[in-house]
Amino acid sequence: MGGCRYQLNRRDQIIEVDDGWLRCAKEAGDSDLLPARILRRSLWEFIADPRTRLLQGALLRKVRSTRKPIRLPFRCDSPEMKRWMEMELTSSAGGEVDVTTSVVRSEPRARIACLAPHESRSPAEILNCCGWCNAVQVGDGPWQEVEELLCARPGWPASDDSVELRHQLCPRCDATLVKASS
Ligand SMILES: [Zn+2]
Repeated sequence: MGGCRYQLNRRDQIIEVDDGWLRCAKEAGDSDLLPARILRRSLWEFIADPRTRLLQGALLRKVRSTRKPIRLPFRCDSPEMKRWMEMELTSSAGGEVDVTTSVVRSEPRARIACLAPHESRSPAEILNCCGWCNAVQVGDGPWQEVEELLCARPGWPASDDSVELRHQLCPRCDATLVKASS
């Protein structure tokens, strides 16, 4: 897959998505992300973590006020592919913001089942997952690459089926976003 582009209006509603978005939604097998379901909805309906909302809001305010593009690296992995991406935010005089993402590089890997969208199962083990770099954490433990943590565990890969990811920001990405938005 490649990247995608979407546009937000002044009120942070998603008003336009490109074909790349459609391809990503289909590839992810997530029908909730199809254009018909997301257009005219607020970006904030899709971001649950309070800290991510705060920093993403600060990024949008900055790009709208300075009108200078902001570029940030991030990860957007699929179950079978690691993807290093770049996001560019640009703003027009009217306050619309264009968000363009592109793949910098990608690498295949053994399938990580819990990265695919799935129904909630219970009982499930909840792992913290950084929504920005895709690192994962158990409890207060160290943030690690998903392979380092999950594939090293007994019972892998079947054990992935009982794992659910809760998205938040790892300290490193938190610092990156604070810097980019200030
Ligand atoms: Zn992170």
